[in-house]
Amino acid sequence: MTQRYDYIVIGSGIAGLYAALLARRHGSVCVLTKGGIDECNTRYAQGGIAAAVGSDDDSALHLQDTIAAGAGLVDAEAARILVEAAADRIHDLVDFGVPFDSTDGEVQLGREAAHSRNRILHAGGDSTGAHIELSLGGLARMSRITIKEYVQVEELVVEHGRCTGVLAMDTRTSATERFDAAAVVLATGGCGQLFRVSTNPDVTTGDGIALAYRAGAEVEDMEFIQFHPTALRMPGVPIFLISEAVRGEGGVLRNAGGEGFMPRYSEQAELAPRDVVARSIVSEMAATGTDRVYLDVRHLDAGRIRARFPQIYRYCFGHGLDITREPVPVSPAAHYLMGGVRTNTWGETTVRGLYACGEVACTGVHGANRLASNSLLETVVFAKRVVQRSLAASGEAAPPTDGALELPAYGQEGAGAPDRPSLQDLMWDTVGIVRDGDGLRQATRQLAAWRAGLPLAHDRPSHELSNLLLVGRLMAEAALLREESRGAHFRTDFPEPRDGWRRRLVFRRAA
Ligand SMILES: Cc1cc2nc3c(=O)[nH]c(=O)nc-3n(C[C@H](O)[C@H](O)[C@H](O)COP(=O)(O)OP(=O)(O)OC[C@H]3O[C@@H](n4cnc5c(N)ncnc54)[C@H](O)[C@@H]3O)c2cc1C
Repeated sequence: MTQRYDYIVIGSGIAGLYAALLARRHGSVCVLTKGGIDECNTRYAQGGIAAAVGSDDDSALHLQDTIAAGAGLVDAEAARILVEAAADRIHDLVDFGVPFDSTDGEVQLGREAAHSRNRILHAGGDSTGAHIELSLGGLARMSRITIKEYVQVEELVVEHGRCTGVLAMDTRTSATERFDAAAVVLATGGCGQLFRVSTNPDVTTGDGIALAYRAGAEVEDMEFIQFHPTALRMPGVPIFLISEAVRGEGGVLRNAGGEGFMPRYSEQAELAPRDVVARSIVSEMAATGTDRVYLDVRHLDAGRIRARFPQIYRYCFGHGLDITREPVPVSPAAHYLMGGVRTNTWGETTVRGLYACGEVACTGVHGANRLASNSLLETVVFAKRVVQRSLAASGEAAPPTDGALELPAYGQEGAGAPDRPSLQDLMWDTVGIVRDGDGLRQATRQLAAWRAGLPLAHDRPSHELSNLLLVGRLMAEAALLREESRGAHFRTDFPEPRDGWRRRLVFRRAA
């Protein structure tokens, strides 16, 4: 039996929950999420959410920083919308109960890399995402929104060029059901699980990108994935992010010999853009023959470190490391996808009735590299616009791109299906922080052969593997085509940006 709603929202991170909370005022809403409600990237966000709300700040400065970080590929109109709507969306979050940290009634504003002002709002110190998820999730549960946990969307239904619903599988019974809606909102997050070392949880398998691509939507900027420079690197300890804000507070990166090396790589030292810091760390690790460097906060006030970073302090302390007394071993990890399902500034994809917001979407605000803490902001700014648009112009679509590419066919034999770790190893080694043509060519062929040999997906792990393979292919092909280095995409065989490449790569399945 088909279930019908006005809105189907796929995903229960900040983008999905916020969109659902707005949409419930206009019709019936069903949120489908493949794990528990709080299994998502959002819950792990530490540093905070960017908004030019300080007395020395304004949205023009925020726009300038966003455009500079994006290395020539930011969509200026989308970025303008992002920064100008920031203060209003922060008010919405406060209204929804998010307890941003304040002192004497004044909101506290942290600083992060490549921001020219203090403009990062946080909650619970470094537990911003957990507070957002708890507040929005709690509110959604108390509202008329139908929330279906452990239900994985496995296909978007497209009829006469319009997305009319989804097929979704209850992961506990394997039963598949159809859900129809006037508006289908993809809020499925990124694809960090493509890589061996990642800050993203298990659910982050690029499903929404794969679903949209199969449904005929355009996917763009897939070569641009951000690697976070500092994830905790301790034997036997699950990967855990050590927030950028720790460097913002004055933390110093040291190599195995104890040298503070960042000034050798950038005038901005520890506050250089993430890609610069991540590559500097890779280079230092190679030079010193180790798999880690150290983030040192011993010179900072211990009480302040404990108060500002309670989550990080507790996590490390729980694993036998007092960060106020010992340097923290860190290395880079896959973190955030700038690319995704192409949308216009209203969150419309190129398929009518299908919207996308949050990390799954590519609005163009990040260009080739994201400015820290703009991602949580992007989720709410564009989720709001999706709901507004669904009311004003239901069923429109973003115009298709001239010259969108198809994935090439290599005419290869199918090779036995890989397991997730083999795929992650291939991606880490060949499509990771430092790339080159030979590695990328090897990756594209291997991924194509693996895809060709893949049996039909029938449960959550096999659907996720199939999605990861498709998304990995889109990423590897885009990275191979882009013969330059720009933002987060770095190739040793083309180490500089090239003017002819100030354009985006868009993929669309052959009709
Ligand atoms: C460790 C960490 C720290 C971060 N810190 C910051 C920060 O300080 N500031 C900042 O701005 N950004 C930060 N980010 C990035 C930011 O958290 C994410 O970009 C943002 O939370 C994405 O929100 P989302 O709602 O789009 O996706 P998510 O929060 O990832 O939610 C996606 C949802 O979709 C569901 N889903 C996926 N596929 C399916 C399917 N097939 N069927 C049904 N459901 C599905 C998932 O289960 C999940 O519920 C951080 C990310 C990480 C991992």
